Amino acid sequence: MNEGTSSTGRSSAASGTPIQPPASFVAGANVTDGSLRESFAERWPECWERAADFLDWSSPYDTVLDATDGYDWFAGGTLNASYNCVDRHVEAGRKSHAALKWEGRLGETRTYTYHDLYREVNALAAALRERGVEAGDVVTTYMPMLPELPVTMLACARIGAVHSVVFAGYSADALAMRLADTESAYLVTCDGYYRRGTAYDLKRKADNACLDVPQSVDRLIVDRLDDDRSYGDNYVGYAALLDEYRGETVEPVPRAASDPLFVIYTSGTTGRPKAVRHTTGGYLAQVAWTSHAVLDLGPGDTHLCSADVGWITGHSYVVYGPLALGATTVLYEGTSDYPERDHLWGIVERNAVDVFYAAPTVIRAFMKWGAEYPADHDLSSLRLLGTVGEPIDETTWRWYHENVGGGECPIVDTWWQTETGGILVSTLPGVDAMRPGAAGPPLPGIAADVVDPHGSPVEPGESGSLVLTRPWPGMALDLGESTGEDPTDWRYETGDAATVDAGGYVRLLGREGNTLNVAGRRLGTREVEAAIVAVDGVAEAAVVGAEDTRRDTVLYAYVTPQRDAGSEARLRERVRDAVADAIGGFAVPDVVLLTPDLPKTRSGKVLRRHLRQIANGEAVSDTGALRNPEIVGELESIVDGVS
Ligand code: ATP
Ligand code: MG
Repeated sequence: MNEGTSSTGRSSAASGTPIQPPASFVAGANVTDGSLRESFAERWPECWERAADFLDWSSPYDTVLDATDGYDWFAGGTLNASYNCVDRHVEAGRKSHAALKWEGRLGETRTYTYHDLYREVNALAAALRERGVEAGDVVTTYMPMLPELPVTMLACARIGAVHSVVFAGYSADALAMRLADTESAYLVTCDGYYRRGTAYDLKRKADNACLDVPQSVDRLIVDRLDDDRSYGDNYVGYAALLDEYRGETVEPVPRAASDPLFVIYTSGTTGRPKAVRHTTGGYLAQVAWTSHAVLDLGPGDTHLCSADVGWITGHSYVVYGPLALGATTVLYEGTSDYPERDHLWGIVERNAVDVFYAAPTVIRAFMKWGAEYPADHDLSSLRLLGTVGEPIDETTWRWYHENVGGGECPIVDTWWQTETGGILVSTLPGVDAMRPGAAGPPLPGIAADVVDPHGSPVEPGESGSLVLTRPWPGMALDLGESTGEDPTDWRYETGDAATVDAGGYVRLLGREGNTLNVAGRRLGTREVEAAIVAVDGVAEAAVVGAEDTRRDTVLYAYVTPQRDAGSEARLRERVRDAVADAIGGFAVPDVVLLTPDLPKTRSGKVLRRHLRQIANGEAVSDTGALRNPEIVGELESIVDGVS
């Protein structure tokens, strides 16, 4: 086994002995069968019945996978996602269990039992239908984290409409692009929202977007700001409309398993956001199964996922997965550090959260603020922690494990994408040992390879491209391509670079193209970043290559110091020493820049292409995906200052 061996063959900063899940966790875990991967592989694709069994079908499917024309999972079966996430829990005697808990920006709280959710979803479904929404129509939402958002998604699902959720932080242009692209004639939005105590106008952006699209858009508006503003003729008030329909019920419309449940756009980290469509049957089965097997959720659990519902993570693991299983899902409005930096830990404590799922960038922010914030709260209800969205380096992993998980909770480092619908690579928390820095093996039923540019699998420990070689139920419609006669001859290139060790654990190295040639040697920037983040006083780091006048690669390290990091010169020195120790002198960054923040997408991913442009002295283009565009100018002047 290639433990702790990096792509360059040296011992990396992210090495360590595997950590076994604690016996106390295993004793109560949903999945403890260590032979699941083998049994799924032997019975593929029939193994996926196991996921479909988490759902109630209106009519049973004929075959697990019909691959005669594309990949039709659970072909012949029909079901309704709203029935599966709401009605059946009410029918099973859990009507007074909390389905959704919400904490608002002004300290308000709301709890929806499954019965409450049933009433809200039915009322809105009836109202939408009256307004003309039919099965297959696209309904767009443009709202912050309000309970009305999942209610709208489920109401759409109930009548067979396809939802398109647009993140509230997006601009009018971004909303218009999505409205036009999906030809959506319905919009559910709100007047505004609070962020850090300030009210932001959302309606004006919605107005502008609607002016910019060819179709006319029927609009419902949620009153969040409570400011007596009149909305004008183009909008119908959500609350008043719901009052009219409350008490009505709408029969859930049976949908074919392959009918789209929603459309969503990728984050746009590597280029222009792409539209992705997910199915009703395969998608819902995949997220229910992974919520059970990886997030270890069940009916008695309270789950807090810090992702916005505007991202796929929010769709799958704030809304559909937890609700399909009858668990309680917690939503909060706004940011994790307002009014105080312990805001999220207060939510965990008040709601006795069992499972917490967040992005490494969120965890690194907590690390930067300090361990005293989680320490101030009783986090003993937590049983399992998860991460998603970016590689988590070993230092951050250990901080999370220790300071949030009390040194006890297992951590699942879950790799997946918008296109995959649900988690595909992760440890099973009740079965597999954890290796900080490596996500884990592909889940049962998932086949993945790390390949060289010719498509041949690389040796253990060598870096290559992560490809998925068999379809799975939660795959987006029209994903990948078949490569032969047999339905198993199929391939989807993920665009991520990875290594796999002899034990089958996949370690993600970031996007392809983040591998550099430095002094004639291959170097993964992720590896340099891991060495830097391990330095005391460093919160976050991103490393990119630039070209000097002789066209040699020059390494730039952008480093965010922690509070109280001490002398800047000494910190730079420690960064250089750490890289030299962990990897070697050739990998030591030529330029170490200290910066208060890194350019990030609205979903929290570091945009390395902008860092590359800045390092090369090029104009920074296409900043539309940035959450914090102001950092670009700041970084440009820092770079100017050193070169
Ligand atoms: P776009 O495809 O438009 O460039 P995006 O890829 O950022 O945007 P997402 O689908 O939200 O949009 O992100 C998926 C990507 O996130 C993966 O391809 C991978 O690079 C990264 N990722 C997700 N989870 C992990 C993880 N656990 N470890 C490492 N990387 C991860
Ligand atoms: Mg992507």
